[in-house]
Amino acid sequence: METYKCIECGKEFSRREVFTGHDLILCCECIRETTVKNQLMKKGLIAATVYCKIYAENFPTTIDGNIISGQELYDFLIDSCGCTEMEGDLNIWYIGSNEKHGCLMLNDRIWEWGWGDSSFITVLEFIQYAYEFEALTFDQLNDLIEKIIEGHKIGGMYHIDSYLELKSDGRERDWVNPERNWKQISKKFFSNVLTSINQKIGTVMTSSLPNAKCVAIMGSKKKEIKDE
Ligand SMILES: [Zn+2]
Repeated sequence: METYKCIECGKEFSRREVFTGHDLILCCECIRETTVKNQLMKKGLIAATVYCKIYAENFPTTIDGNIISGQELYDFLIDSCGCTEMEGDLNIWYIGSNEKHGCLMLNDRIWEWGWGDSSFITVLEFIQYAYEFEALTFDQLNDLIEKIIEGHKIGGMYHIDSYLELKSDGRERDWVNPERNWKQISKKFFSNVLTSINQKIGTVMTSSLPNAKCVAIMGSKKKEIKDE
């Protein structure tokens, strides 16, 4: 069996126990060390796994125990999964709305879920954490939040194809979510999004439903706070 030597502690591991990429090999233990996380952060890197089970394992396994740049993470999340007739079925939508299980991991944090428990709130926490490590830029974070809101509007991975069809005609505003109780689900979702963003970004938002623009405004506030 091929072994991988952690550049930090010098011990040897199997592939499952290390993160590789950008000419680095780091074990699960060392990746949790603050000094290691900070060294990676200086280079704009994070250790990550992005996985969810869709159909017969059709989700791309590009990021599975890898050391990646924020740009690589961003590009992956907005890349087409290729599971619909139409182009543009974003990977990020499947993570937030797949019906089976999945796992997100970033440096020292893991988000796991089982059957029926996928959530865009989980995805939101994940990208916010990437932002905390300065892997994602401000514009990338805002753009991903917009994609999350769009994914939530679609209402589930099995509706992506129909939604994209409508979108290709420029009629995405006509999309009616096929799920029952959608209004209630939506209300809860947006209140969770607000709580999550407010906690992390520290901005108090009072509007009931955020849209992409609100998020962008909150984003620039965060920037101001940070720059002060
Ligand atoms: Zn190590």
